[in-house]
Amino acid sequence: MPAKIWTPRSRGEPLTAAELETLGRRDHVTLLPNRLQFIDDFADLDRGGALLVMVTMAEAKHYNEVLRALGHAFCDDLVRVCRDRLLDLLGDGALFHVSVLSFAFVITGAATDRTPHLIEQIGRAFAAPLDVQEVPIKTHIGIGLLPLAKFGDTAEALRAALTAGHDSRRRPEGWAWYDHRSDEAHQRAFRLLADLPDALRHSRGLSLAFQPRIGLADGAVVGAEALLRWNHPELGPISPGEFVPLAEQTALIGPLTDWVIGKALETAGDLKRDGTPLRVSINASPANLSEPEFDARLLSRCAVAGIQPEQFELEFTEGMLAGNPERTMAQLERLRGAGIEVAIDDFGSGFANLSYLTTIPADVLKIDQSFVRGLGVQRGSDFLMRQIVEMARGLDFRVCVEGVETAEAYGFLKDLGCDEAQGYYMARPMSADALTDWLAAR
Ligand code: C2E
Ligand code: MG
Ligand code: MG
Repeated sequence: MPAKIWTPRSRGEPLTAAELETLGRRDHVTLLPNRLQFIDDFADLDRGGALLVMVTMAEAKHYNEVLRALGHAFCDDLVRVCRDRLLDLLGDGALFHVSVLSFAFVITGAATDRTPHLIEQIGRAFAAPLDVQEVPIKTHIGIGLLPLAKFGDTAEALRAALTAGHDSRRRPEGWAWYDHRSDEAHQRAFRLLADLPDALRHSRGLSLAFQPRIGLADGAVVGAEALLRWNHPELGPISPGEFVPLAEQTALIGPLTDWVIGKALETAGDLKRDGTPLRVSINASPANLSEPEFDARLLSRCAVAGIQPEQFELEFTEGMLAGNPERTMAQLERLRGAGIEVAIDDFGSGFANLSYLTTIPADVLKIDQSFVRGLGVQRGSDFLMRQIVEMARGLDFRVCVEGVETAEAYGFLKDLGCDEAQGYYMARPMSADALTDWLAAR
């Protein structure tokens, strides 16, 4: 029998317009008026002196963990318990349920004096665990406050109050006023994420810069690291330190790394044709190595581009092991087996348990630039660098030090027997064309 999509019998007569209108303005779990009703009711309110209070029950991530562990019915009860705590303080009629995890109400006129007291009461009401089906649940609420006169558009006011609630999680007092600078930062992050797909699709504004890596024994160029650049059409140059971590929180990191691999292979091919073959490194993100078949795709792309795997290197940070360590390790193992170099980037900048160093399939340890900054200046820095280099060599890694900016640091690392270094002292990141000229001039 062919597969068929099941249509339940209960799918009876369609709702009338009036029924839809009523249903559309209530939250079905709490039966409170919802966001649409809030926006409607708000049209009649005098905004002067009115204060919007947004209470968010928990961060979405935490809520989803409870949902996965205890199910939908439990979470519906959890939401209703939160509603009841708020209704105890506010009385009936004031509260709106504006999104799955958020409740809102408005304080008007002179009532603003009551604000601190009421907000403290809410904070206290949620400090103790909530009892949901006899399971104690610890919530981490956010409380955002926003003077409504600042916003002409009610939907926009709700969004802005939500960002204030988000900010409040980092405040000791547990609540936060709307802050336009913080809101601008949220909006900028969103804007970057919204514009990135288009930049990727048309390769618009994106480019790679290449920074040479130098062998310290003889000063020869041993490779170049590809570093992503984005010149946004309106916002100007955006640092990868800003947009890569944003992309890493979304599915965009897959296509972004694909784009980098394509460009890096293109440059590796050009260098080979020019008679200056060079190993090119790219930075991979944790999510990339959790993708099934990342290794196979990378190897086949190398083959299509006519690049030997030995001419390609993957840099990754220790954070990579946090997601799916088994799959990550297996992919690295296969890539390395096929000849691709693997480098541990920014070593020493995180707080990882070092035992992974004994099992990780890697060739190179790139020591974070923060260790170079202190050389000859900060007590203990020389000693620490010496010990890290010794440890790395004892574990059979080649050592590369990042962020070398002075002749003194260069000399110190060379005397120490470091294998390789990268930094402004030798060369800044440059375009692929500039790299060709730079190599030719050496
Ligand atoms: P990273 O991989 O550790 O790259 C080294 C960073 O240090 C680069 O910054 C480089 O320009 C900078 N640098 C190099 N030498 C010196 C020096 O002597 N002094 C100082 N102060 N800085 C130096 P950049 O290009 O801004 O990249 C920042 C980070 O963004 C990278 O750190 C990497 O984690 C990430 N990133 C860059 N491109 C990509 C990419 O294509 N994919 C991914 N996933 N991450 C990338
Ligand atoms: Mg790197
Ligand atoms: Mg680094």
